[in-house]
Amino acid sequence: MDETGAEPSAKPTQTPPEDPLLAPRLSAGQLALLHRYGQVRPTVAGQELFREGDRSYDFIVIVSGVVTILDHQAGVARELATGCPGEFVAELNLFTGERLFTTAVVKEPGSILVVPVDRVQRLFAQDQALADLIMQTSFRRRQWLLAERAGMRIIGSRSSADARRLREFAARNRLAYVWLDVETTPAASLVLRHHGIGPDETPIVVMRGGEVLRNPSNTELARAAGFGSGAVAAGQTFDVAVVGAGPAGLAASVYGASEGLAVVTVDGLGVGGQIGTTSRIENYLGFPVGVSGDEFAERALVQVLRFGATLLVPSTASRLAEHRGGYLVRLAAGDELDARTVIIATGVSYRRLDADGLDRFEGTGVFYTPLAAQDQVEPGEAVVIVGGGNSAGQAATWLADHRHPVTIVIRGDDLAASMSRYLIDRVVRHPGIEVIARSAVRQLDGAARLERVVIEDLATSARRTLTCSALFVLIGAEPHTRWLAGSVELDRNGFVATGPQPAGGARPGQAEPRSLSAGDQHARRVRGRRRAQRLGQAGRFRRRRGLDRHPLRQRAPRPAHRIRRRRPLRPLTAPPTEIDPRRHS
Ligand SMILES: Cc1cc2nc3c(=O)[nH]c(=O)nc-3n(C[C@H](O)[C@H](O)[C@H](O)COP(=O)(O)OP(=O)(O)OC[C@H]3O[C@@H](n4cnc5c(N)ncnc54)[C@H](O)[C@@H]3O)c2cc1C
Repeated sequence: MDETGAEPSAKPTQTPPEDPLLAPRLSAGQLALLHRYGQVRPTVAGQELFREGDRSYDFIVIVSGVVTILDHQAGVARELATGCPGEFVAELNLFTGERLFTTAVVKEPGSILVVPVDRVQRLFAQDQALADLIMQTSFRRRQWLLAERAGMRIIGSRSSADARRLREFAARNRLAYVWLDVETTPAASLVLRHHGIGPDETPIVVMRGGEVLRNPSNTELARAAGFGSGAVAAGQTFDVAVVGAGPAGLAASVYGASEGLAVVTVDGLGVGGQIGTTSRIENYLGFPVGVSGDEFAERALVQVLRFGATLLVPSTASRLAEHRGGYLVRLAAGDELDARTVIIATGVSYRRLDADGLDRFEGTGVFYTPLAAQDQVEPGEAVVIVGGGNSAGQAATWLADHRHPVTIVIRGDDLAASMSRYLIDRVVRHPGIEVIARSAVRQLDGAARLERVVIEDLATSARRTLTCSALFVLIGAEPHTRWLAGSVELDRNGFVATGPQPAGGARPGQAEPRSLSAGDQHARRVRGRRRAQRLGQAGRFRRRRGLDRHPLRQRAPRPAHRIRRRRPLRPLTAPPTEIDPRRHS
């Protein structure tokens, strides 16, 4: 058995895709345009065009001959696809800069057209239909490769906190990976034996190409995968530093970079923020049948990178200070980013439950998003969800659809106070979901894993035990703003104070504010307005809050917008504490 769970064979296994959408033929006109940007080169049988582990490659069109796409599992080659004349060889990593996890080998000699990746961008501007075809095919190929279990192997025990951290980081950032559990997956021991590593030395990550990382940090994993490691030149000043790559930060990055501003986007954990952990978003503009958080984040990431923003992940901002008329964003690793404008889009983190035994099971039985539990809970195992908001409703229907008996525990009388009507209808109608009102979880129990929770009726204090393998805590969040303490005005709940100028205007000696807030972490959070920001209006928000005063913008005046200033910054007075390291290791 190989790492994919298949029997190994001397010959490559044959699973080329039949789907024509994965291997579209370019038209004569598209080929002619591509020839203007590239160079034709002859190929010989057996020639490697790129190899697993390579850090970059060019856009390749097969002019004549045949090219095979392979990967290698513990030394066994597996044929994934075969490319014929008129087809192109490219995947999403062409745009994300991720390290390659497939190899392209010439099967039948002929010739290829090679277009350097930087010219592909120019080509996109020339032919929208071609750009669309290449982009859509790249997204589909990534989905297909994930389904084929291509990508790095993360090997460890499901009860290991580090193994969990690595999987969560990879999942949040949509890095292609396969999880091999040393306790339950026979293929795990095969791979460990192949690399001469014992189970007690896990977790390890085996990159495509053979590199083995032993219990890497998130940063080491990202660097090895070629993800989020944009270059920052010494002494570089960015026009905009966006802190946080949730929907608000991503939208701000796209708007800034697409306007020609030099944008750097940093995130302590991953791209997509909370939305990246959502099974399905149905209330975002432009997605009539909804979109998974995963897909939304992936598309936004490619958009950000396509417009040339510099992405640094994982990079936690630990401090903000004024500097020469702009700002310094200090990163937890010690580096500093110099920026004329800062957009604070650091969102919120989930509230924890006050219940006995919670610490013991966090990450193995207690989760703050269904995504994190994917490899931990088997279909058929019962789960409990605490909370009555939309996140809880979505999680409940998603888990119940995946054959988990679901119990929702809420403190209130019913769901009406906190859940959207359409979700309440689904929850109530779903035969696999039960709602227990006026109750709270008091205790968690189990041997190696979570096995049951004790809930208390808030009216009678009567206690009862529910069998469950996972507890999902979806009870709201705290703002990620501790890193701003002393530099930005926060309200008493820690949210960034935004809105009209306080009476009396700016305090004496204060510079014009160029630090802006977008997203969940700013105060005066009217539900409808928060939604609007997520729906991609960060640009409008940004202009209102001062980016139009940027020198680059003044050269290219835009229609007038009503500019409402955020309250001015106070000088930095106290060293701010870092954000919750539990979520940002
Ligand atoms: C399970 C679930 C389902 C949801 N479903 C929906 C839905 O269907 N519809 C909907 O409208 N909303 C939904 N939401 C809410 C929605 O995801 C959030 O409102 C939205 O993500 C907020 O976006 P944001 O950019 O403000 O912040 P966030 O998404 O919270 O992103 C903030 C980012 O900042 C990073 N960060 C924090 N501090 C730092 C720092 N100091 N340095 C660097 N980076 C930092 C974090 O790692 C994070 O990636 C859901 C949320 C969850 C959890």
